[in-house]
Amino acid sequence: MRLKIPRGRTEGGVGGLATLVAAVGLATFAVMVAIAWIVSERGDRAEHEQDVGRLRSMVAEMRASMETDMVANAFRAVTFDKAHANFDAEWVARNIGSRLHSERGHDTTVLLAPDKQLRLVFDHGQPVEASYGLPMLQSVLPQIDAVRAKSGEQSWSLRRPGSMARIGSEEPRKPVVETVWAEVGGRSPALISIAAVMSEDDAAQVPTLLVSMRRLEGNLLAEIGSKLGLADLRVMRVSGNSGDDVVALANPDGTSLGALAWTGSNTSTGAFFRVVPVIMAVLLGAFAAMAALVKMIGGRVARIKAEVEQSRAAVEVDHLTGFPNRRRFVEMVDQAVARLKGDDRDHIGLLHLDLDRFKEINDVIGHAGGDEVLKLVAQRLTSILRPSDAVAHISGDEFLIMLDRRASKTDIESMCEAIVSTLGKPMTVQENELTVGATIGIAIAPVDGNEHGELMRKADIARYRAKAEARGGWRFFVPEMDEVLKMRKMIRAELANAIKRDELQLLYQPQVSSDGKRLVGVEGLIRWKHPTRGMVSPGYFIPVAEETGLISDLGRWVVQRACLDGRRWPGISVAVNASPAQFKQGDFVADVCRIVAETQMDPTRLEIEITEGVLMSNTDMANRILNGLRDAGMRLALDDFGTGYSSLSYLRSFPFGKLKIDRSFFLQVDTDSQAGAVVQAIIAIADALDMKVTAEGIETAGQHRFAQAVGCHSIQGFYFSKPVPAEEIDRWLAEGVPQKLAA
Ligand code: C2E
Ligand code: MG
Ligand code: MG
Repeated sequence: MRLKIPRGRTEGGVGGLATLVAAVGLATFAVMVAIAWIVSERGDRAEHEQDVGRLRSMVAEMRASMETDMVANAFRAVTFDKAHANFDAEWVARNIGSRLHSERGHDTTVLLAPDKQLRLVFDHGQPVEASYGLPMLQSVLPQIDAVRAKSGEQSWSLRRPGSMARIGSEEPRKPVVETVWAEVGGRSPALISIAAVMSEDDAAQVPTLLVSMRRLEGNLLAEIGSKLGLADLRVMRVSGNSGDDVVALANPDGTSLGALAWTGSNTSTGAFFRVVPVIMAVLLGAFAAMAALVKMIGGRVARIKAEVEQSRAAVEVDHLTGFPNRRRFVEMVDQAVARLKGDDRDHIGLLHLDLDRFKEINDVIGHAGGDEVLKLVAQRLTSILRPSDAVAHISGDEFLIMLDRRASKTDIESMCEAIVSTLGKPMTVQENELTVGATIGIAIAPVDGNEHGELMRKADIARYRAKAEARGGWRFFVPEMDEVLKMRKMIRAELANAIKRDELQLLYQPQVSSDGKRLVGVEGLIRWKHPTRGMVSPGYFIPVAEETGLISDLGRWVVQRACLDGRRWPGISVAVNASPAQFKQGDFVADVCRIVAETQMDPTRLEIEITEGVLMSNTDMANRILNGLRDAGMRLALDDFGTGYSSLSYLRSFPFGKLKIDRSFFLQVDTDSQAGAVVQAIIAIADALDMKVTAEGIETAGQHRFAQAVGCHSIQGFYFSKPVPAEEIDRWLAEGVPQKLAA
């Protein structure tokens, strides 16, 4: 018996299976095609969005850089002088017209006089006929009027001499500049910037304007396209999508100026069609196709990841110096610290460097010149650092440097020496020869910490100390600096209350006759009895009082206390110290005279001690104040003589009655004959100028004998007494100089 297989069913079964296989195959194919298409399309879209974003940033950057060029050139005292006040066509042509083209790529530049005459017109750096500039100006007439009006507003008053602010205004003058996209002469859009010629010191009521233009065409377009990898970058008349990728540009009034277009690469959808044969092969082996798909997706992810990494790296670089920015630098420090093996021959030096006098350089040669200096500094640093070291440019004149894996502190110190020396060599910028110094604060990992924040903070503290003590040098962080900083913070927060809470005390240090037998005067020295920290020395809080402006209140308190106590001590002088900062605030002479009158102190017994610093910084003001005090009957003493810039001319030009020779001169008189010779010379000069001399800081019988022998008129120092409370002076006056101390 033959088994009969019904034909129809069999055919139907095979057909069904085939249909099923075909259906599954087709469905798999369709699903795969769909997935591949979606993935590819998304890829294209992401790529496109990235391109648009980068092009937009580039367009914004062009605009910002144009404004920077304009401000650097128009907002300068020398430009105000040569382009406006004392017009010098040759200077403007050389320094502005030609340079804006050769160095900054501007196409057309116009100097527009207050009467709206085109004073100078440059095309590609060359002077051309005035009419050449008209089309450009016509397209920005409203902006020209706006800049004229805004800068006019800043002209209305004079500045106080020596101050940054105008009378009636706390604000210094600010640059006035407008930058817009516009169409000029029916050609492609141009970036036009209009800036008022003015400076911090001067602004005309109707200003001269600097107007300059960069056209978005030719080389500039090609350069942008190749930088961003955009094929066939061009300007399209109509902004609208015609299958190309576009970034729109608009007139100042918002109307369309056209758009930047390029031919999208569509790399991913292109890839799709190449992948189709592979997908066909999937029908032959689903697993192979799956593998291909996985591979394709993996590749795409890797590519997108690489692109993201690349654009991240671009953002992490400082465009001026090419150094990594602070964030990237910090990562590098973290990585380097993590590599330290705990071996004590492995250190990382974190340097905070700042350039000395950079602001002055910027003022003299302008911001563009300042940028050049920074570039040269960057080159010089790169030339002496190791490839594994890192540098970041963190602000105007500040850099962070990481010295990777140095064997010792000495190695780090030699590097600092090399840095200071290489940066200190003269550099030529815009035909000026100049030198910049550098000051460096240093923290070391792991000694000062392993965490970047802590290392940076400590390097910064050390830098402050270096600036105060050794401009053009370096300092390593030491924990004591941290203490000083904490102390300063506490002082800053609490000093104002100290006066109110009556925590200040004035001690008096006796000054005796040269034979040590008679009390001839006292010097008032301030102390702060802090409720928890105990006695705080003036060395800590006077500088803070000077910084915060509290010095005036504090100074008035000292004079008043000294007068109130001094009234009880007829026949001896009462000295107080005045800080240079007091001279600069309020009316010092009037304050002292008022207190003397109120307390009924005899002004001829009040002596004001000042240090040389005040004479250096503002000679005229110092002279006025010192003469005012002398005319009111007070005595004047020059304190710490010999430690500052001691110039004999000070002694002659200021009305000092007394010199106080600094204690450092007496430290070695017992052993060093030259130290003695200097003191003798000072006394000879003082005698010739009819001044009295006080020896400061006498601590030993030997120093006292010397001071007496060379003819000092009075003596002050721990050998006789430390600073003591007022009651102790009462006792000295009642009982005489304590015998056991008298020589
Ligand atoms: P100065 O005016 O030169 O005062 C002399 C300083 O030397 C005082 O330190 C005094 O205690 C110290 N001294 C005196 N004899 C000796 C000695 O034999 N050996 C040593 N090693 N030191 C001696 P002090 O009181 O710490 O004051 C330091 C500085 O603070 C003063 O130097 C002065 O410039 C400033 N100062 C003090 N009181 C005031 C004040 O009321 N107003 C202002 N503006 N400054 C003040
Ligand atoms: Mg003094
Ligand atoms: Mg002194």
